[in-house]
Amino acid sequence: MDITVVLATRNKKKITEIKRICSDLRIRILTLDAFPDVPAVEEDGATFRANAVKKALEISKRTGYPAIADDSGLEVDALDGQPGVYSARYAGIDADDRQNVKKLLSTMHDIPDEKRGAHFVCCIAFAMPNGRYRTFTGSVSGVIGRSRKGVRGFGYDPVFYPEGRMKTFAQMTDHEKDSLSHRGRALGKLHAYLSNLLKIKHIKISD
Ligand code: IMP
Repeated sequence: MDITVVLATRNKKKITEIKRICSDLRIRILTLDAFPDVPAVEEDGATFRANAVKKALEISKRTGYPAIADDSGLEVDALDGQPGVYSARYAGIDADDRQNVKKLLSTMHDIPDEKRGAHFVCCIAFAMPNGRYRTFTGSVSGVIGRSRKGVRGFGYDPVFYPEGRMKTFAQMTDHEKDSLSHRGRALGKLHAYLSNLLKIKHIKISD
């Protein structure tokens, strides 16, 4: 393996997804389970980018390895971009996915079909212990439905219809969702960056 990176998340789904997408790269991926003393980083930024950068920098500094962190959420046009960075706690600090979706559907009850546009955004940050970092953003546009459809996925998946599709993210297979999703797109950019970095590193090493 050429480089070791730490994933700055304890979310099992994200860990599996990032590992799957980076599986063809010569990277050793550690998770925060290897660093039980590292405390959680508070997500108090005003943007997805600010939160992802803060998490990646902090975890990289504390572990001494390059770190990958992400932040994501749903921005609804008719709600001026809400819930945005508050997506996970839209219905309250301890709210679960069901309560968040319920609040979204009731808040949007009177919004007509043609004004129900929204997009998911994901920002991934890759930070080095020396404080340098890069960010990669992916987004997917779609519309918010009027009731839940499908049982797969998480979060707002049951009410999000990606553009041009007649089904929600929660009605798609993982593979189908990954090929369209904000996270899949941001991870694709990270993958391209890391594979380039490994090539440069390889040239330097073999020189
Ligand atoms: P975080 O990136 O883990 O902070 O997630 C923020 C919140 O945004 C999640 O709890 C979900 O409510 C929402 N979210 C982010 N990505 C997705 C997705 O792919 N599907 C559905 N909801 C999502």
